[in-house]
This record gives sequence, C-alpha cells and structure tokens, in this order.
Amino acid sequence: MVKYDPSLLEQWDKQYVWHPFTQMRQYLREKPLIIDRGEGSYLIDVEGNRYLDGISSLWVTVHGHCHPELNQAIREQLDRIAHSTLLGIANVPSILLAKKLVEITPPGLNKVFYSDNGATAVEIALKMAFQYWQQKDGGRYRNKTKFISLVNAYHGDTIGSVSVGGIPLFHGIFKPLLFECLHAPAPYCYRCSLGLIRESCHMACLDQLEELMAGHCEEVAALIIEPLVQGAAGMITAPDGFLRRVRELCTRYNILLIADEVAVGFGRTGRLFACEHEEVAPDLMCLAKGITGGYLPLAATLATDEIYEAFLGEPEECKAFYHGHTYTGNPLACVAALANIELLEKTNLLAALQTKIELLRRGLEKFWQLPHVGDIRQRGMMVGIELVVDKSTKEPYPMREQIGHRVILEARRRGLVIRPLGNVIVLMPVLSMSCEELQRVLEITYESIAAVTGR
Ligand SMILES: *Cc1c(COP(=O)(O)O)cnc(C)c1O
Repeated sequence: MVKYDPSLLEQWDKQYVWHPFTQMRQYLREKPLIIDRGEGSYLIDVEGNRYLDGISSLWVTVHGHCHPELNQAIREQLDRIAHSTLLGIANVPSILLAKKLVEITPPGLNKVFYSDNGATAVEIALKMAFQYWQQKDGGRYRNKTKFISLVNAYHGDTIGSVSVGGIPLFHGIFKPLLFECLHAPAPYCYRCSLGLIRESCHMACLDQLEELMAGHCEEVAALIIEPLVQGAAGMITAPDGFLRRVRELCTRYNILLIADEVAVGFGRTGRLFACEHEEVAPDLMCLAKGITGGYLPLAATLATDEIYEAFLGEPEECKAFYHGHTYTGNPLACVAALANIELLEKTNLLAALQTKIELLRRGLEKFWQLPHVGDIRQRGMMVGIELVVDKSTKEPYPMREQIGHRVILEARRRGLVIRPLGNVIVLMPVLSMSCEELQRVLEITYESIAAVTGR
C-alpha cells in the first residue's frame, strides 16, 4: 500500500470521515489518532508511536493484534473463497463454527443464526422471540408481543435494539421511532433507584421485576439482559445471584430469556460466557464483539430447539424466519472465529486470566484514594471507574467538563488508548495482555485521573 503523509491523512480524515458516537466539532478541534498497525497489546499510529490497547479496540480483541495463527487462518481461507451466501446454500466454515458454538455455549442452545454485528444479533433474537409466540401452539400465545429490558441497558443502535435500550443520552431523541418496552430497575447499586444499599437490600429491585412480570406475563414475549455487566451504561456490575433469579422469574412467568453476551462473551468476565458464572441457560443468546478475537465483523444468535421447531412447517404455511443479511455466515469471518476459539482452548487463556483479574483487583484498590473516584466496578477483565465532583454527595461531573474525555487524552499522551463512557473511565484490556503490560495500564490510568482531577 502507498505510504501517505500523516498530515495529509489527518486532513482527509477530517474532511471525509464522520466518526461514530463522536461530536465532530470537538473531534475537528483535536489531533486525531490514526492507527496504522497493531502488535499484540499495542496499537501503532501513522507516526510510529506505540500505545497499549486498554479497551481491546472497543471490547473485541482477545489474543492481541496481528496474531500469526489468526492471520494464517484467514489467509488460507482467502485462497479458497472470500464469500458465498447462506441463503439456501451452505459453506464449510459456517458449518464448523456453528457446531463449535453449540458445543461451547450453555446447554440447550442448539441452533446458530449468523449476522454481522451485535445490534443485528439482538434484532434477530427479538424477532425470533416475537415470531415464536405468534406461531407456537396454533397462536394461543399471540398476545405475547412485548419485551422487558432493564433501565440503562444497551443492546445496539438499530431501531429494534434501541427500543429495548435504556440510555437516555443515546436513545432519547429516537423515542418517536421506537416500539414500546417495559423497563425493570437495573442493579446500579452505587446509585440505587430504590435508595437501598447492597449489603441489606436483598435485591429488592428483583421484586419490582417480578411485579412487572406478574402483571404483564400474558403479553410479554421475552426479557433481554446483559448478563452480569451492563457495559455501555458504565460497567454496571450486578450482584451475585441476580442473573440466576432473573432466569428463575422468566421460567416461572413463561417469558423467554435473551442473554445479550455481545460484550461479556468470550472470556471478558473470566469465564467463556457470563451466564456460566450462575449456571444460567438462556433461551436465546447474542454473540458478537469478541467472537472473531477482534478480527472481522461477525455475530451469532443461538436458539433452543424449542424455539427453532416453532418455525418448522410446509413452505406454504409461511412459518420460516424471514430475516437475513447479505454477508450472513461469511467464510472469512467464520474461520477467524474458529481460530479464535481454538486458540482460546489451546493457550488455556481463561486459566491464565484469573491471575490477571486478581492483579487488576489489587491494582484498583489504590484508586479509591483519589478524591474524585466515586466508584470502582470490576467483573473479570471489565472495569469502570466512575468519577464524581464530590464523593460524599456522588454529584456527577457536568457534561461540559468532558472529564472522561480529558482523562483519556491524558492517557493517550502517556501511551495508553482508552475510551470513557461519560464520566466513567473504562478499562477492558486485551485478554492476552501480560501482567507487566496490565500494570502499566493501571499506572497510566491512575496518573491520568490524578493529573486531570487532582490527588
Ligand atoms: C456493543 C454491544 C452491542 C452492539 O454491538 P455492535 O456490534 O456495535 O452492533 C449490543 N449489545 C451489547 C451488550 C454491546 O455491548
């Protein structure tokens, strides 16, 4: 490829590219970071500067960048075929991957429906749940058309997935376009909506969920949840046992459980899937982000036989699932996912993670000393550090302060790429990161928070 002058690239980036989730006026004022290469835990920009990847390139990278085995798997597939459709015909990698996914996911999830990203994986789960009840037992359950989701939930940015989302900043403007959804309280214990404290609350928020279910079970098709951690809301970690009780309630009230493991899947929480921590088997499960180890866009929605069978019938009965994306089951993406999973098994990455999770936990203790660190939440390799104006009142920083943004710019100057969620500094290190590199991520984060907010 031709090597372009960095300043020319900067000019063209600002002239032609509209960045996601980005206020472009603010972006245009700053010097952009333009990545040229990756090496293990590092990102390298067009000027040759190296940065630790502290957010796994938006929560996707598993074995590091430019991994020789992943690269090789994709190269080999590239010499066979880059793409062929799954509409009515099959391809080899999509078969092998589906078999593998069924083997490694919680019991009962036996069918794999592919798409390209987390939002589509969620759309598919919602539509499957909806159509399932329309077709089950000759239409006996046709009134089950609604969904329950949690306050602060994030399930992607398409209209359907936004409809089950609950983050006013992202979703408020689109309200007139969305379908109605029932919201249950989130386990945001630092700012409990019921005014309770974790030590003595007995998860009273789940009583509210039960009330909601009891009142609406005839009309609710499914509940969708991010198991253990609400990621985009600011790494909100649920108390132990929360997910398991949600599963029990869904079963009791005949409501399907959709586990959105897009962010938490593939090792982020210390287990392969977050549901495993509480031995939960959902009815539908959404996978994306880490599925290809951060290589190519791919997603999968897994379903039980019970759901799959409600779509069977003669062609003229029109019970098929009429949904599909052009690149569904793309062979290059599927081999990347297969190689990612094989590498997870071969390197025993999950076992090695336990030491790193503990290292993070110990390293984060020191952060409580900082005067503007209000809360620290960690689940496995997912961390959120919530910054506040005043610890005693938990007063949030006003948006105009851009406190999270200023901290991450400071970190960037010190050689670490991270991205905040509002006033929450997120750490989501590459899972293969060494202990020394993790230590460095913690040091830079600490120094950057201290430099911007004070000691
Ligand atoms: C990122 C995310 C999505 C959306 O995934 P995309 O690939 O960005 O569409 C959905 N659900 C959760 C929990 C996520 O974190």
